[in-house]
Amino acid sequence: MKNQDFLQRSRDAVWHPCSQMKHFETLPLVPIARGKGVWLYDFEERRYLDAISSWWVNLFGHCNPRINAAIKDQLDTLEHVILAGFTHQPVIELSERLSRLTGLGHCFYGSDGASATEIALKMSFHYWRNSGVPDKTRFISLQNSYHGETIGALSVTDVALFKDTYAPLLRQSTQVPTPDWRNAAAGESARDFALRCAAALRAHLEQHHAETAALIVEPLVQGAAGMGMYDAEYLRQARAICNEFKVHLIADEIAVGFGRTGTMFACEQAGIRPDFMCLSKGISGGYLPLSAVLTTNEVFQAFYHDETARGFLHSHSYTGNALACRAALATLDIFEQDQVIAANRAKAAYLTQAAQPLRDHPKVKNFRHTGMIWAFEAENDTPHFSRAFYQLALENELLLRPMGNTVYFMPPYIISEEEIDLLIGGTLKVLEQLC
Ligand SMILES: *Cc1c(COP(=O)(O)O)cnc(C)c1O
Repeated sequence: MKNQDFLQRSRDAVWHPCSQMKHFETLPLVPIARGKGVWLYDFEERRYLDAISSWWVNLFGHCNPRINAAIKDQLDTLEHVILAGFTHQPVIELSERLSRLTGLGHCFYGSDGASATEIALKMSFHYWRNSGVPDKTRFISLQNSYHGETIGALSVTDVALFKDTYAPLLRQSTQVPTPDWRNAAAGESARDFALRCAAALRAHLEQHHAETAALIVEPLVQGAAGMGMYDAEYLRQARAICNEFKVHLIADEIAVGFGRTGTMFACEQAGIRPDFMCLSKGISGGYLPLSAVLTTNEVFQAFYHDETARGFLHSHSYTGNALACRAALATLDIFEQDQVIAANRAKAAYLTQAAQPLRDHPKVKNFRHTGMIWAFEAENDTPHFSRAFYQLALENELLLRPMGNTVYFMPPYIISEEEIDLLIGGTLKVLEQLC
C-alpha cells in the first residue's frame, strides 16, 4: 500500500477530530503504518518524531516492548468483564497503586478524560446533596481552562473555539482569573500574580460559596490554553480558600499527571491534596482509553448507605477494562523500575539547554518550561500559522501541532539526546522559514 491509497478513503469514511474536513483537500492526512519509540512511520518509510506524544498520551514510546508484553499476556487471560457486581485482578491492583501514589482512593473508572470530568462534577454535586446541602449546584473553573468537550465537561471549559458554538447547550459556570503568568503585569512575579488571582477566587467565593459545589483546575499547566504555566502557590491558596468556604477542589490531572510536570502528579509541587483527582491520557502509557477519578474517604462515606439512590449512579460499558488496566500497571512498573521521575530531570535539563538557540531567537516570546513540557509564542504574520507550521514541521520529520502562535514540545519520556537535537534543529528551521 502507498500513502496515497489511504488519503481519499480516510477523507470519505472517517470524520477526523478537531479538524475542518475541507482542509484535508490541501493539508494531506498522514497515514501511519507503524510506530517505534518516538518515531511514527508512514507507508513509504518517511518518519515523524512524535514531539506531542500523540495528543499528550504517550509516555514511553510507541510499541514499547514492556507494555506490549503485558497487554499480550492479559489478552490470553481476560480481555474484559462487567465491573458492576464483578471484579478482577488488574483493576484492584491499579486502584491500590493509584491510591498509594495520590493519597486518595475509591477509584471510579471511565474511558476518557471528558468522562472523568463528568464523574467528578456529578460526584461533587451528589456529595453535597447527600450531605444535606442541595443548593451547591454550580461549578467554577479558571479562565482559558480545558476539561473536555462533552456537554458537562464543556460547561466548565473556557476555550472559545470549542465552546462558543455550543454555548446554548451548556450549563452556566463561572470563570475566575487564571494565574497563567503570561497575563501578569509588567514586573509582577509569577508568585505575586498567583496571589492576586487567588484573592479574586476568594472574593468570588465570599459571594457565591453557598451555591458552589466545586472549583475545577488544571494544576500548574493549562494545556489547551496554550501551555499556560503558573506558580504552585495558586494551588496552595486555592486549597485553603476551598476549605474555608466548603467548596470541593477538583484537580484535573488528565494532561499533567504521570510525570508531565516533573513530579508524578502536579499537585505534589504545591503539597496539596485535592478532593477529587481526574486521571487519563498517560495513565495507560498512551495505549488504551482509560480514565479514573479518585476521591477522599469523606466523599465516599456520604454515598455509603442502604438506599440505592444515595449511591453514585454512573456507569460506562467499558468501566475498568482489564486490558487498559494492565497497560496502566505496566506503565507504573516502568516508572518504578527505571526511576523515571529522576531520569526525566536530567532529560529535561538537556532539552532546556539544547533549546537555548530557540530561547534566544528574536521571534520567540515567553519561552517556558515545566517538567517535560516546553512552550513559546512565535511572533509572525503568517496566515494560519499553526497549520503552516505543522505542515513544514512534517517536512522536517517532526510532528508538532501549535495552538495558535504557541509552539510546544511534549515528547515521550524515552526521547534520546540525539532525538532532542533533531527536535530543536528542526523547530529552528521551521521558525526561520515562517517568522
Ligand atoms: C485532554 C484533556 C481532557 C479530556 O480528555 P479526553 O480523553 O480528550 O476526553 C480533560 N482535561 C484536560 C486537562 C485534558 O488535557
